[in-house]
Amino acid sequence: MSELHKFIFDGLPVRGQLVRLTDAWQELLRRRAANTQTGAYPPPVAELLGEMTAASVLMQGNIKFDGALVMQIFGDGPVKLAVAEVQADLRLRATATLADAVPPGATLAAMVNAGGRGRCAITLDPRQRQEGQQPYQGVVPLVDEGGAPLASLAGVIEHYMRQSEQLDATLVLAADETIAAGLLLQRLPVQGQHNLSQSHVAREDDAGAPGEGVEDDFARLSILARSLRRDELLGLDADTILRRLFWEERLMRFEPLAGLAGPRFACSCSRARVAAMLQGLGQDETESIVREQGQVEVSCDFCGRQERFDAVDVARLFTPPEQQPPLPGAVQ
Ligand SMILES: [Zn+2]
Repeated sequence: MSELHKFIFDGLPVRGQLVRLTDAWQELLRRRAANTQTGAYPPPVAELLGEMTAASVLMQGNIKFDGALVMQIFGDGPVKLAVAEVQADLRLRATATLADAVPPGATLAAMVNAGGRGRCAITLDPRQRQEGQQPYQGVVPLVDEGGAPLASLAGVIEHYMRQSEQLDATLVLAADETIAAGLLLQRLPVQGQHNLSQSHVAREDDAGAPGEGVEDDFARLSILARSLRRDELLGLDADTILRRLFWEERLMRFEPLAGLAGPRFACSCSRARVAAMLQGLGQDETESIVREQGQVEVSCDFCGRQERFDAVDVARLFTPPEQQPPLPGAVQ
């Protein structure tokens, strides 16, 4: 089952989260693979999308915000667009649009930043938007401060958090065809101090200033977090990962979020919506598509699910309910 674990380090201004998406991630991939027009994601795209989805859950898990967190990568390579969306209650979905074939083993830069113009945008879209209210959006390029292409999505998000949220963060992400997972550590602001470490923000006070020990703690915990290998993040359960990494720390864990309270796949598409759309299109138009193609087929842009309406379905769609013959076996 997919799960989100939150924890803090007792006495230290550092908090963390660990996410493991299993059933939710597999359902997302299954729907895409079942779409007869797109087929399954190429493995490098699935990996990128899995990391984006895991990172989006971690970021959504971090904020008190009633709305959707949407992570978008606008690529200038074969991956034109990749999107992960996580609601406040951790319902999630994700999709990618390909402009070209993605070779096996393609790097992040080759997929979305071939010409150096790729962008990553994080949008917070309130559930009940006030009139005239714009969703908040932060955008970062897929290069570091020095203009060198970032090698990993985790690096991109860390960069984003430093720039947009002024938060020092350490992120480890991984995904394969069965699981998408991530570990996030964040420095909490301490009264009268910058959140960011000296490496990112020049501080006026020198070495030996109060709070230096605090920075050492975050740096030390970050090194531990970064020692987590890909196969460990993908293959080990949360308890084992946290015990192995932080066995010398006083870790205080919260009740894991799982099941209906945890991260889970959900797409708002439905057959009823497609039916309503066809009714809006009109009987003549819909029937002409059926004559030409034998059926009407509509894919969900987001999850890839296909709904098909054949001639009989379409006839029912445009027949008032009182004139419809009863379905076989229906109780009168
Ligand atoms: Zn859908």
